Amino acid sequence: MRAVVVGGGLAGMAAAFRLARETPQVTLFERRPFLGGRAFSFRDPDSGAIVDNGQHVLVGACRRLRAFLARIGSPSDAFARQPSLGIPILDGAGRAATLSAARLPAPLHLVPALLRYRHLGLRDRLAVARDAAALARLDDRAALEDVPLGEWLARRGVSPRAIERFWEPLVTPALNVRVAEANLPLSAFFLERALWGGPSEGALWLPRLGPSEAIGEPARRALEAAGVVVRSGERVDAIVVQDSRAVGVSLGGGEVVAADSVVSALPPRELDAALPGTHGFDRLGAAPIVNAFLWYDRAVADRPFAGTFGSPLQWVFDRERLLGARRSGGPCLGISLSAADEWIDLSKEEIAERLDEAVARVLPRRRGAKLRASAVVKEPRATFRAGPGCTRSRPGPRGPFEGLWLAGDWTDTGWPATMEGAVRSGEAAAAAALSGPSAASVSTRGSGR
Ligand SMILES: Cc1cc2nc3c(=O)[nH]c(=O)nc-3n(C[C@H](O)[C@H](O)[C@H](O)COP(=O)(O)OP(=O)(O)OC[C@H]3O[C@@H](n4cnc5c(N)ncnc54)[C@H](O)[C@@H]3O)c2cc1C
Repeated sequence: MRAVVVGGGLAGMAAAFRLARETPQVTLFERRPFLGGRAFSFRDPDSGAIVDNGQHVLVGACRRLRAFLARIGSPSDAFARQPSLGIPILDGAGRAATLSAARLPAPLHLVPALLRYRHLGLRDRLAVARDAAALARLDDRAALEDVPLGEWLARRGVSPRAIERFWEPLVTPALNVRVAEANLPLSAFFLERALWGGPSEGALWLPRLGPSEAIGEPARRALEAAGVVVRSGERVDAIVVQDSRAVGVSLGGGEVVAADSVVSALPPRELDAALPGTHGFDRLGAAPIVNAFLWYDRAVADRPFAGTFGSPLQWVFDRERLLGARRSGGPCLGISLSAADEWIDLSKEEIAERLDEAVARVLPRRRGAKLRASAVVKEPRATFRAGPGCTRSRPGPRGPFEGLWLAGDWTDTGWPATMEGAVRSGEAAAAAALSGPSAASVSTRGSGR
């Protein structure tokens, strides 16, 4: 079988690996000169420093991604791995409380942390423990597809304080959407897998290398060693369809590459543009993420990372501590703003200025320090918009034409838009392609934990 994979993000790379295990003729097309898709590093033209388009964090529950990282030979020190879940949360004045898993079997491991979470009063702590457990155990999730998480919590009488101090810092970065708008089954899935799954399932893996060094570059070497022809810097103009069957792809210069199977690992908008006819994959919508990098003349953080509330900072990473002084360019904070609709249209200067002011309120050591430089990365279409009803717009691996298979974090993996979801989708699309047209029932979901 001649297989073509379009898109060299995690989904496309995972698909190419899976295909190459069983068929020798696999070609991967990626329009940019490098692999990695939405997880990449680059030299910021303003500051001259190497920065990442986003802090790419994973949790222990990301099993297919972890297997993928091992398969590509990602450096063993690419991530600082927590032995068990532990999330420091700072309030707007920098006071910390840590949600740490206890040495107890799941789901009891989180109960002591929730009961001791001193950003909330006792009544709210009890409510959070009760509601988080209820959400993780939720039955018949499909029936709740149209109920936003915020509404479900409100029906249970959850206080605005608990939403601000517990739910927002955890759910917003995981789904890239505010609690008021968050898809309920996806929120439940995240809680079940990461928080209630067990101490190591929720343990964070924090990047110590940029995503290109940790993922894109080793993956390219491993793909080529596996016999995949990697054609980067080559944009696919169209997926060629004849008699309702995908028969190859056409490239910018007019070249047509024939294939028996085409796996699209394109984002929805790009897939719509590459296909004949109207398919409306992009109706899922997109949500922005903004990342800022602030370099100071001295260290300003007390811990490698923290979530926040009562401050615009959301999540703060001490890049010097995590990546080392050489890679981070000296003392540097990475600030990650999910669901960044209010930020995306501001100028980079204004974003850096506002965040630096917030840093001064939350991290007291900032007050004696000088801001040396800043860089801001805006990703207006960082992920699909994980709002109510989104699951209905997430297709399975079978495409609208015979011989066309769909992958990408936006397809129906059951996961939010994550690297784990992307890898799962690529593997499922490749497995479906290898099984042939009768594979209509192949599902990305439930492919093992
Ligand atoms: C700022 C930011 C922060 C994030 N943080 C996290 C995180 O902490 N943890 C986590 O798990 N996930 C995170 N994500 C999400 C994660 O990066 C994505 O879920 C994942 O990388 C998506 O992979 P993909 O292969 O589905 O899509 P993509 O990575 O988008 O891959 C699609 C590829 O197709 C290529 N392409 C497009 N058009 C064409 C064409 N016509 N011809 C050829 N190639 C084409 C693109 O260049 C791209 O490389 C983050 C994303 C962003 C943007």
